[in-house]
Amino acid sequence: MSDNNHTNDNAPFQPAAKPRRFIAGAVCPRCAAMDRIVVNADGESRECIDCGFSDARPTAGPEAVPTRVTRPAARRVETAAEPVRLLDPNNPKG
Ligand SMILES: [Zn+2]
Repeated sequence: MSDNNHTNDNAPFQPAAKPRRFIAGAVCPRCAAMDRIVVNADGESRECIDCGFSDARPTAGPEAVPTRVTRPAARRVETAAEPVRLLDPNNPKG
């Protein structure tokens, strides 16, 4: 038991240490390259991997757009009342 849990915290180089996420359909405002914009894990900064453009605030994607469709009245569905017919297996007509 002489070997402690060895961790490489002081690695000389960290390849792709920052977890990044691509933004689908995002266009770089500088080089106009599509699908080259990545966002860091915090989502507070974006970066273009093509030209090196970086911005502090990423643009609001389609998933961040507030919608006004959440009206409670819109969720009410008028359901037509129908008389339920029960099939009688003992029906002599069958
Ligand atoms: Zn770019």
